[in-house]
Amino acid sequence: MSPTPSSTPTKIARRGLMLVLSSPSGAGKSTIAGNLLRDDHSLEISVSVTTRAKRPSEIAGKHYHFISVPQFERMRDAGDLLEWAEVHGNFYGTPREPVEAAMAAGRDMLFDIDWQGALQLQEKMKADIVSIFVLPPTMTELQSRLHRRAEDSEDVIRTRLLNSRAEIERWREYDYVIVNDDLDEAFRNVSCIVNAERVRRDRRHGLFDFVNGLLTEEPSL
Ligand code: 5GP
Repeated sequence: MSPTPSSTPTKIARRGLMLVLSSPSGAGKSTIAGNLLRDDHSLEISVSVTTRAKRPSEIAGKHYHFISVPQFERMRDAGDLLEWAEVHGNFYGTPREPVEAAMAAGRDMLFDIDWQGALQLQEKMKADIVSIFVLPPTMTELQSRLHRRAEDSEDVIRTRLLNSRAEIERWREYDYVIVNDDLDEAFRNVSCIVNAERVRRDRRHGLFDFVNGLLTEEPSL
């Protein structure tokens, strides 16, 4: 029998990864998330519901499902949200069904959510969560990034800046902390974390059978 060509990728079954990215507004988390989704097709984004108004650049159903407060309350009260929080005066939540489907199929999911949501997911699904907190290099840079984005009113920017200190104080609750000084480097670091977490022994339940198969193989010498 001819040996398996070394170019054939070996698939070892593993549990899906829940990658949580959090940061204060303007630290670059959404750009990093966008780059990850562009380059890594086995990662899918959890599209949240929100009661905030749509920004001009956003697409409904892609960036968020934009819903009313009564709709949000109905989903929350029916248990359709895996986690939810009030952030900067609006409600945000993660629809439960797509996450459960992805996890059951062993697919990886990316969550762009705040620290309150990260805590709730950590409590519910500890073993599957990998959390990363993205920090700005300076508060001045955070402020200028919020202004450069130019999609929010001055009032909204002021609220977000005021809230950013309390958000930054949550850094200890995350597995990894990245300073987004240089976007390419921050993105490379996040990609490395994802790749390393995918090959963790305790995530790959298929390793047992794989190693047994290896040990029972009798190569012809
Ligand atoms: P933005 O309004 O800038 O899109 O988001 C504001 C904040 O809400 C960000 O920190 C974002 O990560 C967070 N956020 C977005 N979706 C969710 C969600 O489903 N749950 C929670 N807890 N936070 C969210």
